[in-house]
Amino acid sequence: MRMPTLSDRILSALQSVQDPDLHQDIVTLGFIKDLLIQDGRVSLTLELTTPACPVKDDLKQQVINVVSQFPEVTDVVVRLGSKPMRGLQPLAKGLSEVGAIIGVSSCKGGVGKSMTAVNLAFALSEQGASVGIFDADVYGPSLPTMVALPDTSLVFDGQFIKPLQYKGVKLMSFGYTQDPLDDRNPALMRGPMVSQVINQLLTQTNWGALDYLIIDMPPGTGDIPLTLSQLIPMTAAVIVTTPQRLSFVDVIKGIELFYNLKVPTIAVLENMSYYECGTCQERQYPFGRGALQSLVNEFGFKYAFECPIDSLVSPTSDAGLPLVLAHPDAKATQVIHQLAGAVAREVSRLRYQSTGAPAVEVMDANGKLMIRVSQGERESWVEPRDLRLACRCARCQDEWTGRPLLDASSIPDDVVPEGLGPVGNYAVGVNWTDGHSSIYPYEVLWSFQVSAEV
Ligand code: ADP
Repeated sequence: MRMPTLSDRILSALQSVQDPDLHQDIVTLGFIKDLLIQDGRVSLTLELTTPACPVKDDLKQQVINVVSQFPEVTDVVVRLGSKPMRGLQPLAKGLSEVGAIIGVSSCKGGVGKSMTAVNLAFALSEQGASVGIFDADVYGPSLPTMVALPDTSLVFDGQFIKPLQYKGVKLMSFGYTQDPLDDRNPALMRGPMVSQVINQLLTQTNWGALDYLIIDMPPGTGDIPLTLSQLIPMTAAVIVTTPQRLSFVDVIKGIELFYNLKVPTIAVLENMSYYECGTCQERQYPFGRGALQSLVNEFGFKYAFECPIDSLVSPTSDAGLPLVLAHPDAKATQVIHQLAGAVAREVSRLRYQSTGAPAVEVMDANGKLMIRVSQGERESWVEPRDLRLACRCARCQDEWTGRPLLDASSIPDDVVPEGLGPVGNYAVGVNWTDGHSSIYPYEVLWSFQVSAEV
Protein backbone atom coordinates (compact mmCIF):
# COMPACT_ATOMS: atom_id res chain seq x y z
CA MET A 1 0.00 0.00 0.00
CA ARG A 2 1.25 3.50 -0.87
CA MET A 3 2.35 5.59 2.09
CA PRO A 4 0.37 8.84 2.30
CA THR A 5 2.45 11.68 0.92
CA LEU A 6 2.75 15.05 2.67
CA SER A 7 0.25 16.37 0.16
CA ASP A 8 -2.26 13.61 1.11
CA ARG A 9 -1.73 14.32 4.79
CA ILE A 10 -2.20 18.05 4.33
CA LEU A 11 -5.44 17.52 2.39
CA SER A 12 -6.68 15.10 5.00
CA ALA A 13 -5.89 17.58 7.81
CA LEU A 14 -7.58 20.38 5.91
CA GLN A 15 -10.83 18.43 6.08
CA SER A 16 -11.10 19.77 9.62
CA VAL A 17 -11.76 23.26 8.19
CA GLN A 18 -15.46 23.78 7.58
CA ASP A 19 -17.22 26.39 5.48
CA PRO A 20 -19.63 27.86 8.05
CA ASP A 21 -22.42 28.36 5.51
CA LEU A 22 -22.16 25.28 3.37
CA HIS A 23 -21.56 23.03 6.41
CA GLN A 24 -18.97 20.99 4.58
CA ASP A 25 -15.22 20.86 4.73
CA ILE A 26 -13.18 22.93 2.31
CA VAL A 27 -11.50 19.89 0.70
CA THR A 28 -14.78 18.15 -0.14
CA LEU A 29 -16.10 21.46 -1.45
CA GLY A 30 -13.15 21.61 -3.86
CA PHE A 31 -11.80 24.88 -2.41
CA ILE A 32 -8.16 23.73 -2.33
CA LYS A 33 -6.48 24.30 -5.66
CA ASP A 34 -2.89 24.35 -7.00
CA LEU A 35 -1.40 22.64 -3.95
CA LEU A 36 2.36 22.70 -4.44
CA ILE A 37 5.04 21.53 -2.02
CA GLN A 38 8.69 22.39 -2.62
CA ASP A 39 11.37 21.89 0.03
CA GLY A 40 8.95 22.38 2.91
CA ARG A 41 7.33 25.39 1.26
CA VAL A 42 3.59 24.83 0.76
CA SER A 43 1.56 27.04 -1.54
CA LEU A 44 -2.07 26.68 -2.48
CA THR A 45 -5.09 28.63 -3.66
CA LEU A 46 -8.16 28.74 -1.48
CA GLU A 47 -10.90 29.06 -4.08
CA LEU A 48 -14.03 30.35 -2.35
CA THR A 49 -17.55 30.66 -3.67
CA THR A 50 -17.45 34.45 -4.01
CA PRO A 51 -14.75 37.13 -3.93
CA ALA A 52 -16.95 38.94 -1.40
CA CYS A 53 -16.85 36.05 1.08
CA PRO A 54 -17.01 37.69 4.53
CA VAL A 55 -15.16 34.83 6.23
CA LYS A 56 -12.31 34.62 3.72
CA ASP A 57 -9.63 35.93 6.09
CA ASP A 58 -10.74 33.59 8.84
CA LEU A 59 -10.72 30.57 6.52
CA LYS A 60 -7.31 31.55 5.18
CA GLN A 61 -5.93 31.76 8.71
CA GLN A 62 -7.38 28.37 9.59
CA VAL A 63 -5.71 26.85 6.52
CA ILE A 64 -2.37 28.43 7.46
CA ASN A 65 -2.69 27.10 11.02
CA VAL A 66 -3.52 23.55 9.90
CA VAL A 67 -0.73 23.39 7.30
CA SER A 68 1.90 24.96 9.59
CA GLN A 69 1.40 22.19 12.14
CA PHE A 70 3.30 19.69 9.99
CA PRO A 71 6.94 19.57 11.13
CA GLU A 72 8.13 19.20 7.52
CA VAL A 73 6.49 22.51 6.56
CA THR A 74 8.68 25.60 6.81
CA ASP A 75 6.53 28.15 5.01
CA VAL A 76 2.86 28.42 3.92
CA VAL A 77 1.51 30.68 1.19
CA VAL A 78 -2.26 30.80 0.73
CA ARG A 79 -3.69 32.76 -2.19
CA LEU A 80 -7.38 33.67 -2.16
CA GLY A 81 -9.41 33.01 -5.27
CA SER A 82 -13.05 32.53 -6.13
CA LYS A 83 -15.02 30.20 -8.32
CA PRO A 84 -16.50 31.89 -11.38
CA MET A 85 -20.05 32.89 -10.48
CA ARG A 86 -20.94 33.88 -13.99
CA GLY A 87 -23.25 32.56 -16.57
CA LEU A 88 -24.90 30.04 -14.29
CA GLN A 89 -28.43 30.99 -15.20
CA PRO A 90 -29.94 31.09 -18.67
CA LEU A 91 -30.34 34.83 -19.01
CA ALA A 92 -30.90 37.36 -21.76
CA LYS A 93 -27.81 38.27 -23.77
CA GLY A 94 -26.77 41.40 -21.88
CA LEU A 95 -27.06 39.48 -18.61
CA SER A 96 -25.49 36.22 -19.73
CA GLU A 97 -22.36 36.68 -17.66
CA VAL A 98 -24.13 37.86 -14.51
CA GLY A 99 -23.78 35.50 -11.56
CA ALA A 100 -26.54 36.67 -9.23
CA ILE A 101 -29.29 39.26 -9.45
CA ILE A 102 -30.34 40.76 -6.13
CA GLY A 103 -33.52 42.84 -5.95
CA VAL A 104 -33.58 45.51 -3.27
CA SER A 105 -37.18 46.26 -2.55
CA SER A 106 -39.34 48.23 -0.18
CA CYS A 107 -43.04 48.53 0.22
CA LYS A 108 -43.06 52.32 0.41
CA GLY A 109 -40.94 55.12 -0.98
CA GLY A 110 -38.56 57.10 1.18
CA VAL A 111 -37.44 54.29 3.48
CA GLY A 112 -33.85 54.21 2.22
CA LYS A 113 -34.15 51.50 -0.45
CA SER A 114 -31.91 53.34 -2.92
CA MET A 115 -29.44 54.23 -0.18
CA THR A 116 -29.25 50.52 0.63
CA ALA A 117 -29.07 49.31 -2.99
CA VAL A 118 -26.30 51.71 -4.00
CA ASN A 119 -24.21 51.19 -0.90
CA LEU A 120 -24.71 47.43 -0.93
CA ALA A 121 -23.29 47.42 -4.46
CA PHE A 122 -20.24 49.47 -3.48
CA ALA A 123 -19.72 47.40 -0.33
CA LEU A 124 -19.68 44.15 -2.37
CA SER A 125 -17.32 45.79 -4.81
CA GLU A 126 -15.03 46.84 -1.96
CA GLN A 127 -14.96 43.18 -0.88
CA GLY A 128 -13.51 42.31 -4.29
CA ALA A 129 -16.62 41.36 -6.29
CA SER A 130 -17.51 42.74 -9.72
CA VAL A 131 -20.82 44.52 -9.34
CA GLY A 132 -23.43 46.44 -11.29
CA ILE A 133 -26.43 48.52 -10.15
CA PHE A 134 -29.59 48.76 -12.15
CA ASP A 135 -31.89 51.53 -10.99
CA ALA A 136 -35.36 50.29 -11.91
CA ASP A 137 -37.14 52.88 -9.81
CA VAL A 138 -38.74 54.60 -12.78
CA TYR A 139 -40.79 57.12 -10.90
CA GLY A 140 -37.90 58.32 -8.76
CA PRO A 141 -34.61 57.27 -10.34
CA SER A 142 -32.03 58.17 -7.74
CA LEU A 143 -28.82 56.68 -9.12
CA PRO A 144 -28.03 59.77 -11.24
CA THR A 145 -28.07 61.89 -8.05
CA MET A 146 -26.56 59.40 -5.64
CA VAL A 147 -23.55 58.68 -7.81
CA ALA A 148 -22.35 61.86 -9.47
CA LEU A 149 -20.74 61.31 -12.86
CA PRO A 150 -19.24 64.06 -15.02
CA ASP A 151 -20.93 62.67 -18.12
CA THR A 152 -24.02 60.50 -18.20
CA SER A 153 -24.50 60.23 -21.95
CA LEU A 154 -25.16 56.69 -23.00
CA VAL A 155 -23.00 55.08 -25.65
CA PHE A 156 -24.12 52.19 -27.84
CA ASP A 157 -21.95 49.21 -28.49
CA GLY A 158 -23.66 47.50 -31.42
CA GLN A 159 -27.23 46.81 -30.26
CA PHE A 160 -26.17 47.10 -26.64
CA ILE A 161 -25.81 50.06 -24.34
CA LYS A 162 -22.57 50.41 -22.43
CA PRO A 163 -23.22 50.83 -18.71
CA LEU A 164 -21.69 53.86 -17.04
CA GLN A 165 -19.07 53.22 -14.37
CA TYR A 166 -18.00 54.66 -11.05
CA LYS A 167 -15.03 53.21 -9.12
CA GLY A 168 -15.39 49.94 -11.01
CA VAL A 169 -19.14 49.55 -10.36
CA LYS A 170 -21.31 49.48 -13.49
CA LEU A 171 -24.38 51.71 -13.43
CA MET A 172 -27.58 51.96 -15.41
CA SER A 173 -30.69 53.94 -14.66
CA PHE A 174 -33.86 54.94 -16.43
CA GLY A 175 -32.80 58.41 -15.33
CA TYR A 176 -29.90 58.33 -17.81
CA THR A 177 -32.27 57.73 -20.69
CA GLN A 178 -34.77 60.40 -19.82
CA ASP A 179 -35.29 63.16 -22.24
CA PRO A 180 -38.00 65.73 -21.53
CA LEU A 181 -39.21 65.29 -25.11
CA ASP A 182 -39.34 61.53 -24.81
CA ASP A 183 -42.93 60.39 -25.02
CA ARG A 184 -41.94 57.36 -22.94
CA ASN A 185 -41.91 59.60 -19.87
CA PRO A 186 -42.90 57.18 -17.09
CA ALA A 187 -45.47 59.57 -15.69
CA LEU A 188 -47.42 59.04 -18.91
CA MET A 189 -46.92 55.30 -19.18
CA ARG A 190 -49.16 52.50 -17.98
CA GLY A 191 -47.73 49.86 -15.64
CA PRO A 192 -47.04 47.01 -18.10
CA MET A 193 -45.41 49.42 -20.54
CA VAL A 194 -43.10 50.76 -17.85
CA SER A 195 -42.09 47.24 -16.95
CA GLN A 196 -41.36 46.43 -20.56
CA VAL A 197 -39.25 49.51 -21.08
CA ILE A 198 -37.33 48.76 -17.89
CA ASN A 199 -36.82 45.15 -18.87
CA GLN A 200 -35.56 46.25 -22.25
CA LEU A 201 -33.09 48.65 -20.67
CA LEU A 202 -31.92 45.95 -18.27
CA THR A 203 -31.38 43.29 -20.92
CA GLN A 204 -29.95 45.62 -23.56
CA THR A 205 -27.27 46.89 -21.25
CA ASN A 206 -24.03 45.10 -21.83
CA TRP A 207 -23.26 44.25 -18.23
CA GLY A 208 -20.36 41.96 -19.05
CA ALA A 209 -18.99 39.67 -16.35
CA LEU A 210 -20.52 40.49 -12.97
CA ASP A 211 -20.64 38.59 -9.71
CA TYR A 212 -23.66 40.56 -8.51
CA LEU A 213 -26.16 42.82 -10.20
CA ILE A 214 -28.11 44.86 -7.65
CA ILE A 215 -31.55 46.03 -8.75
CA ASP A 216 -33.07 49.06 -7.07
CA MET A 217 -36.71 48.02 -7.47
CA PRO A 218 -39.62 50.45 -7.73
CA PRO A 219 -41.30 50.69 -4.32
CA GLY A 220 -44.48 48.90 -3.38
CA THR A 221 -46.14 45.63 -4.19
CA GLY A 222 -48.33 46.93 -7.01
CA ASP A 223 -48.35 46.16 -10.71
CA ILE A 224 -44.97 47.53 -11.69
CA PRO A 225 -42.84 45.77 -9.08
CA LEU A 226 -44.86 42.61 -9.61
CA THR A 227 -44.44 42.55 -13.40
CA LEU A 228 -40.81 43.51 -13.08
CA SER A 229 -40.15 40.76 -10.57
CA GLN A 230 -41.69 38.32 -13.03
CA LEU A 231 -39.52 39.59 -15.87
CA ILE A 232 -36.21 39.78 -14.03
CA PRO A 233 -34.77 36.41 -13.08
CA MET A 234 -33.87 37.43 -9.54
CA THR A 235 -31.67 35.18 -7.45
CA ALA A 236 -32.79 36.69 -4.15
CA ALA A 237 -34.39 39.75 -2.59
CA VAL A 238 -33.40 42.12 0.20
CA ILE A 239 -36.25 44.03 1.81
CA VAL A 240 -35.79 47.48 3.28
CA THR A 241 -38.28 48.79 5.79
CA THR A 242 -38.62 51.31 8.59
CA PRO A 243 -39.67 50.62 12.17
CA GLN A 244 -43.17 52.08 11.98
CA ARG A 245 -46.00 49.66 12.39
CA LEU A 246 -47.48 50.61 9.04
CA SER A 247 -44.28 49.63 7.24
CA PHE A 248 -44.29 46.36 9.09
CA VAL A 249 -47.66 45.33 7.70
CA ASP A 250 -46.44 46.32 4.22
CA VAL A 251 -43.22 44.42 4.48
CA ILE A 252 -45.12 41.19 4.93
CA LYS A 253 -46.84 41.90 1.62
CA GLY A 254 -43.39 42.30 0.07
CA ILE A 255 -42.14 39.01 1.45
CA GLU A 256 -45.30 37.32 0.19
CA LEU A 257 -44.85 38.86 -3.25
CA PHE A 258 -41.36 37.39 -3.55
CA TYR A 259 -42.51 34.14 -2.00
CA ASN A 260 -45.17 33.76 -4.69
CA LEU A 261 -42.51 34.42 -7.32
CA LYS A 262 -40.21 31.86 -5.70
CA VAL A 263 -37.56 34.49 -5.01
CA PRO A 264 -36.11 33.96 -1.52
CA THR A 265 -35.91 37.01 0.71
CA ILE A 266 -32.45 36.60 2.19
CA ALA A 267 -32.22 39.64 4.45
CA VAL A 268 -34.28 42.46 5.91
CA LEU A 269 -32.81 45.84 6.70
CA GLU A 270 -34.76 48.03 9.08
CA ASN A 271 -33.52 51.50 8.18
CA MET A 272 -33.59 54.58 10.40
CA SER A 273 -34.19 52.24 13.34
CA TYR A 274 -32.49 54.32 15.96
CA TYR A 275 -30.42 57.38 16.58
CA GLU A 276 -27.17 57.12 18.48
CA CYS A 277 -26.13 60.04 20.66
CA GLY A 278 -22.75 61.33 19.47
CA THR A 279 -21.42 61.89 22.99
CA CYS A 280 -22.86 59.15 25.18
CA GLN A 281 -23.53 56.52 22.43
CA GLU A 282 -26.96 55.91 23.92
CA ARG A 283 -29.42 54.60 21.34
CA GLN A 284 -32.81 56.20 20.98
CA TYR A 285 -35.60 54.47 19.12
CA PRO A 286 -37.96 57.29 18.10
CA PHE A 287 -40.28 54.95 16.17
CA GLY A 288 -40.38 52.21 18.79
CA ARG A 289 -38.90 48.73 18.65
CA GLY A 290 -40.07 45.22 18.11
CA ALA A 291 -41.03 45.15 14.44
CA LEU A 292 -37.81 43.58 13.25
CA GLN A 293 -37.90 40.92 15.94
CA SER A 294 -41.49 40.09 14.99
CA LEU A 295 -40.36 39.58 11.39
CA VAL A 296 -37.55 37.33 12.52
CA ASN A 297 -39.96 35.33 14.66
CA GLU A 298 -42.56 35.03 11.97
CA PHE A 299 -40.37 34.27 8.98
CA GLY A 300 -37.23 32.93 10.57
CA PHE A 301 -34.86 35.36 8.84
CA LYS A 302 -31.28 34.64 9.58
CA TYR A 303 -30.16 38.11 8.59
CA ALA A 304 -32.06 41.11 9.94
CA PHE A 305 -30.24 44.39 10.44
CA GLU A 306 -30.98 47.67 12.17
CA CYS A 307 -29.46 50.65 10.38
CA PRO A 308 -29.30 53.90 12.39
CA ILE A 309 -30.36 57.36 11.33
CA ASP A 310 -27.00 58.73 10.31
CA SER A 311 -26.53 62.44 9.67
CA LEU A 312 -23.80 61.61 7.13
CA VAL A 313 -26.19 59.76 4.80
CA SER A 314 -28.17 62.58 3.21
CA PRO A 315 -25.36 65.09 2.58
CA THR A 316 -23.16 62.36 1.13
CA SER A 317 -25.80 61.03 -1.20
CA ASP A 318 -26.83 64.58 -2.21
CA ALA A 319 -23.17 65.18 -3.07
CA GLY A 320 -23.26 62.12 -5.31
CA LEU A 321 -20.89 59.99 -3.25
CA PRO A 322 -21.65 56.47 -2.03
CA LEU A 323 -21.59 56.54 1.78
CA VAL A 324 -19.49 53.37 2.11
CA LEU A 325 -16.71 55.01 0.10
CA ALA A 326 -16.99 58.52 1.54
CA HIS A 327 -17.36 57.48 5.19
CA PRO A 328 -15.94 53.99 5.71
CA ASP A 329 -16.29 54.30 9.50
CA ALA A 330 -19.88 55.58 9.64
CA LYS A 331 -22.31 53.42 11.63
CA ALA A 332 -24.58 53.01 8.59
CA THR A 333 -21.55 51.93 6.52
CA GLN A 334 -20.81 49.19 9.02
CA VAL A 335 -24.37 47.91 8.81
CA ILE A 336 -24.27 47.94 5.01
CA HIS A 337 -21.05 45.91 5.11
CA GLN A 338 -22.78 43.37 7.35
CA LEU A 339 -25.64 43.24 4.86
CA ALA A 340 -23.14 42.71 2.01
CA GLY A 341 -21.59 39.84 3.96
CA ALA A 342 -25.02 38.30 4.46
CA VAL A 343 -25.85 38.63 0.76
CA ALA A 344 -22.55 37.03 -0.25
CA ARG A 345 -23.09 34.14 2.15
CA GLU A 346 -26.72 33.50 1.29
CA VAL A 347 -26.14 33.67 -2.48
CA SER A 348 -23.34 31.14 -2.12
CA ARG A 349 -25.63 28.95 -0.06
CA LEU A 350 -28.37 29.15 -2.66
CA ARG A 351 -25.88 28.41 -5.41
CA TYR A 352 -24.10 25.53 -3.76
CA GLN A 353 -27.36 24.09 -2.58
CA SER A 354 -26.28 23.23 0.91
CA THR A 355 -29.26 24.95 2.44
CA GLY A 356 -29.44 22.63 5.40
CA ALA A 357 -33.16 22.49 4.67
CA PRO A 358 -35.05 19.45 5.94
CA ALA A 359 -37.44 17.45 3.76
CA VAL A 360 -41.08 18.22 4.58
CA GLU A 361 -43.76 15.85 3.30
CA VAL A 362 -47.30 14.74 4.02
CA MET A 363 -47.38 11.01 4.83
CA ASP A 364 -49.74 8.34 5.94
CA ALA A 365 -48.78 7.29 9.48
CA ASN A 366 -50.89 4.39 10.68
CA GLY A 367 -53.92 5.50 8.69
CA LYS A 368 -53.65 9.18 9.66
CA LEU A 369 -52.18 11.91 7.49
CA MET A 370 -49.19 13.49 9.22
CA ILE A 371 -46.49 15.95 8.27
CA ARG A 372 -43.01 14.49 8.44
CA VAL A 373 -39.95 16.72 8.80
CA SER A 374 -36.67 14.91 8.30
CA GLN A 375 -33.03 15.54 7.72
CA GLY A 376 -30.49 12.73 7.93
CA GLU A 377 -31.18 10.81 11.13
CA ARG A 378 -33.34 13.55 12.58
CA GLU A 379 -37.09 13.30 12.26
CA SER A 380 -40.15 15.04 13.63
CA TRP A 381 -43.86 14.48 12.99
CA VAL A 382 -46.55 17.13 13.19
CA GLU A 383 -50.29 16.75 13.20
CA PRO A 384 -51.62 18.88 10.32
CA ARG A 385 -54.20 20.69 12.44
CA ASP A 386 -51.60 21.51 15.12
CA LEU A 387 -49.41 23.06 12.46
CA ARG A 388 -52.35 24.97 11.02
CA LEU A 389 -53.09 26.36 14.51
CA ALA A 390 -49.43 27.34 14.88
CA CYS A 391 -49.64 29.72 11.90
CA ARG A 392 -48.04 33.01 12.84
CA CYS A 393 -49.24 35.13 9.94
CA ALA A 394 -50.79 38.52 10.56
CA ARG A 395 -54.31 37.09 10.27
CA CYS A 396 -53.72 34.31 12.78
CA GLN A 397 -51.63 36.16 15.33
CA ASP A 398 -51.34 39.81 16.28
CA GLU A 399 -47.94 40.50 14.82
CA TRP A 400 -47.31 43.21 17.33
CA THR A 401 -48.26 41.53 20.59
CA GLY A 402 -48.14 37.85 19.56
CA ARG A 403 -51.74 37.41 20.81
CA PRO A 404 -53.57 34.63 18.91
CA LEU A 405 -56.30 35.93 16.59
CA LEU A 406 -57.28 32.58 15.17
CA ASP A 407 -60.40 30.94 16.55
CA ALA A 408 -59.29 27.30 16.92
CA SER A 409 -62.90 26.07 16.68
CA SER A 410 -63.08 27.49 13.14
CA ILE A 411 -60.39 25.09 11.91
CA PRO A 412 -61.76 21.76 10.68
CA ASP A 413 -60.33 18.61 12.29
CA ASP A 414 -59.40 17.18 8.92
CA VAL A 415 -57.47 20.23 7.64
CA VAL A 416 -54.40 19.09 5.64
CA PRO A 417 -51.90 20.70 3.29
CA GLU A 418 -53.02 20.95 -0.31
CA GLY A 419 -49.64 22.15 -1.46
CA LEU A 420 -46.31 22.54 0.25
CA GLY A 421 -42.93 23.90 -0.84
CA PRO A 422 -39.76 25.67 0.31
CA VAL A 423 -39.70 29.43 0.80
CA GLY A 424 -36.14 30.48 0.16
CA ASN A 425 -33.86 28.46 2.34
CA TYR A 426 -35.37 29.21 5.69
CA ALA A 427 -38.99 28.16 5.68
CA VAL A 428 -41.72 26.08 4.12
CA GLY A 429 -44.96 27.46 2.68
CA VAL A 430 -48.19 25.51 3.09
CA ASN A 431 -51.49 25.98 1.29
CA TRP A 432 -54.20 24.49 3.51
CA THR A 433 -57.47 22.85 2.56
CA ASP A 434 -59.28 25.56 4.57
CA GLY A 435 -58.05 28.07 1.98
CA HIS A 436 -55.38 29.62 4.18
CA SER A 437 -51.66 29.94 3.31
CA SER A 438 -48.95 29.84 5.95
CA ILE A 439 -45.19 30.14 6.09
CA TYR A 440 -43.29 28.20 8.77
CA PRO A 441 -39.60 28.70 9.53
CA TYR A 442 -37.86 25.32 9.80
CA GLU A 443 -37.19 25.93 13.50
CA VAL A 444 -40.96 25.99 14.07
CA LEU A 445 -41.37 22.67 12.27
CA TRP A 446 -38.61 21.11 14.34
CA SER A 447 -40.22 22.32 17.55
CA PHE A 448 -43.02 19.73 17.22
CA GLN A 449 -42.02 16.48 18.86
CA VAL A 450 -44.89 14.14 18.06
CA SER A 451 -43.88 10.53 17.54
CA ALA A 452 -44.86 8.54 14.45
CA GLU A 453 -47.05 6.18 16.50
CA VAL A 454 -49.75 8.80 17.13
P1 ADP B 1 -36.14 55.23 -1.15
O1 ADP B 1 -35.24 54.67 -2.21
O2 ADP B 1 -36.74 54.18 -0.27
O3 ADP B 1 -37.17 56.16 -1.70
P2 ADP B 1 -33.86 56.81 -0.35
O4 ADP B 1 -32.75 55.84 -0.32
O5 ADP B 1 -33.93 57.74 -1.52
O6 ADP B 1 -35.25 56.11 -0.14
O7 ADP B 1 -33.80 57.64 1.01
C1 ADP B 1 -34.74 58.65 1.31
C2 ADP B 1 -34.05 59.78 2.05
O8 ADP B 1 -33.65 59.34 3.34
C3 ADP B 1 -32.78 60.27 1.35
O9 ADP B 1 -32.69 61.65 1.52
C4 ADP B 1 -31.68 59.57 2.12
O10 ADP B 1 -30.46 60.29 2.06
C5 ADP B 1 -32.26 59.51 3.53
N1 ADP B 1 -31.78 58.37 4.29
C6 ADP B 1 -31.85 57.07 3.93
N2 ADP B 1 -31.34 56.27 4.90
C7 ADP B 1 -30.92 57.09 5.91
C8 ADP B 1 -30.30 56.86 7.18
N3 ADP B 1 -30.02 55.65 7.60
N4 ADP B 1 -30.00 57.96 7.92
C9 ADP B 1 -30.31 59.20 7.50
N5 ADP B 1 -30.90 59.46 6.31
C10 ADP B 1 -31.21 58.42 5.52
